[in-house]
Amino acid sequence: MELSSLLSRFNEPETLKMAKLGRELRAKGFDITDLSLGEPDFDTPAHIREAAKKAIDDNFSHYTPVSGYLELRTAVCTKLKRDNGLEYTPDQIVVSTGAKQSIANMVLAIVDKGDEVIIPTPYWVTYSEIVKLAGGNVKLVKTTFENGYKITAQQLEASITSKTKLFMFSSPCNPTGASYTREELATLAEVFKKYPQVFIMSDEIYEHINFNGNHESIARFDYLKERVIIINGLSKGWAMTGWRLGYLAAPLPVAKACDKIQGQFTSGANAITQRAAIVALTGDMEPTYAMVREFKKRRKKVMELLKEIPGIVCSEPPAAFYIFPEVNAYFNKTTPGGSLIENADDLCMYLLNDAHVSVVTGKAFGEPKCIRISFANSMENIEKGFMKIKDALKALKAVV
Ligand code: PLP
Repeated sequence: MELSSLLSRFNEPETLKMAKLGRELRAKGFDITDLSLGEPDFDTPAHIREAAKKAIDDNFSHYTPVSGYLELRTAVCTKLKRDNGLEYTPDQIVVSTGAKQSIANMVLAIVDKGDEVIIPTPYWVTYSEIVKLAGGNVKLVKTTFENGYKITAQQLEASITSKTKLFMFSSPCNPTGASYTREELATLAEVFKKYPQVFIMSDEIYEHINFNGNHESIARFDYLKERVIIINGLSKGWAMTGWRLGYLAAPLPVAKACDKIQGQFTSGANAITQRAAIVALTGDMEPTYAMVREFKKRRKKVMELLKEIPGIVCSEPPAAFYIFPEVNAYFNKTTPGGSLIENADDLCMYLLNDAHVSVVTGKAFGEPKCIRISFANSMENIEKGFMKIKDALKALKAVV
């Protein structure tokens, strides 16, 4: 059977792969503690669920406009003004079945074969794969632990060439939680000013899961706004991953192009979800704040538990619900079963198969020294998972 060559251009998401392997082991009866999760473990707030039930009863059962209901796009504009101080009009908003699809629409709308796309590492797995799907060339720029895993203006400037078409980053970042301050964004904005051909994708989906203060968007720099595509969605801030609702805010020609692409791929996001999203974006934010308060407690716990494990380098993430520790002190050691741990991939498979705890290899995020551990799980499971990790790492033996 001959399938398309497209399939060989990109990889399946490592995060979903780990979740799948964990489910398979669980089905065989193993007690797997899942710390690989990329989603809040909370229920969607009740007022949003009620809005969805009402939408069903009110027969929102037909195709919607491709870019989303006008009322929802207006709600997105209200949110952007309220939370980010940004002025957008509804025709600049395209609603999709998840931020992931918004990113795909945007990349397909902007990136041509051979175009260069700069992505600072560590980065969310999907960015590079969608760029490859579109035929673009990915240029990864390595950021460091010492620099809080943020790209500097010097690094950015050194990486831009005449072929650069797009820069893609998330702030707050998955997997590191790194959040750029206004001053840091200003230094990057000064560089972008010199290169008017470069679009900027600012993925702000973790905006609300922010422990240290206000979220900042690079779109706030007026002279850049005409080149910034904001990606956001309801998955993380409102615990709505399964509802599949994301959106982008973009300069009008980009928004129109994304509408055109989406018109052929999906015809738009689910009608019921869209009605519920209007209520989520304009309604009570207290359930979101309560969730963030809980994540903050768990972050504290995770940082305490980490201290009990020698050789791990990690700083407290200012946002999102992951820690991204350097674990290379455990490479080149052997497991009790005699296998060699050469890298983060091996370490994750050892933790899954022998300790029954699921985490994600840093290689999937472009930083092979690290693993991603999620604290989007109950305090009890976090404690259990860390106990398993600690014992499993202790059992590794140095190669003699
Ligand atoms: N962007 C980042 C940085 C993410 O971590 C994720 C999901 O994990 C997404 C986008 C996609 O979110 P959605 O569920 O809306 O497709």
